[in-house]
Amino acid sequence: MVIVVSGPGGVGKGTIAEYLVKKLDNLWLSKSWTTRKVRSEEDEDSYVFVSRKEFEKAIGDNRFLEWTEFHGNLYGTPLPEAPDGFDVLLEIDVNGALSVVEQSIEALLIFVDAPSVEDQERRLRGRGDPEDEVRRRILEGEKERQIASDLGAIIVINDDLERTIEEISSLINANR
Ligand code: ADP
Repeated sequence: MVIVVSGPGGVGKGTIAEYLVKKLDNLWLSKSWTTRKVRSEEDEDSYVFVSRKEFEKAIGDNRFLEWTEFHGNLYGTPLPEAPDGFDVLLEIDVNGALSVVEQSIEALLIFVDAPSVEDQERRLRGRGDPEDEVRRRILEGEKERQIASDLGAIIVINDDLERTIEEISSLINANR
C-alpha cells in the first residue's frame, strides 16, 4: 500500500512521518530528494540531500515519479517503492501528491494541516525558517489546501502531535 502524507510547510509532516515509521511495523519512509545544500537552520531529515551526480543517476534509473529544477537545484519525488512486505509512506508536498494521482497510483491520501494559519506561522518561525520562507510557505499553503480538497485527500488537523499520530495510525491500519 502507498500512503501519501502531504500538507503545507511547517504543519508537522516531517515530525509525524518520523514517529509513524517508529510506531508502525513494516512502514518504509520515502522523502523528496534535492541537490540543494541543507540550510544551517534546517533539519537534515527534511529531504534526502544528494549530489547532482547521484540525482542524475536516479533520473537515469527512472527512480522518480517527477522531478524539477528550481533556482539551479534539482528536486524530485521518488517512485513509491519499498522492500518486500513494507508499505511505503511518501512524505511529499501537495504537487507530489497530485503526481501520484495523475499517474494512477492507488494511494491513501492524507493532507496534514495546522489548526490555523497562525499556528502554521508560529511553527515555521519556531523551526527557524527565515522570514521570506515563512511568507512563501504561508502563501503556498493557500494553493495547497485547494489542491488537496480537489484531490479529495483526507484532512487531518495536527493539533496535538500524539493525537494526530494516533489518528493517522488508525487510518493506515484500517486501510491495510
Ligand atoms: P513540515 O515537515 O510539515 O514542514 P515539521 O515537521 O518540520 O513540518 O514541523 C514544523 C515545526 O512544528 C517543528 O518545529 C515541529 O517540532 C513543530 N510541530 C509539529 N507538530 C506540532 C504540533 N502538533 N504542535 C506544535 N508544534 C508542532
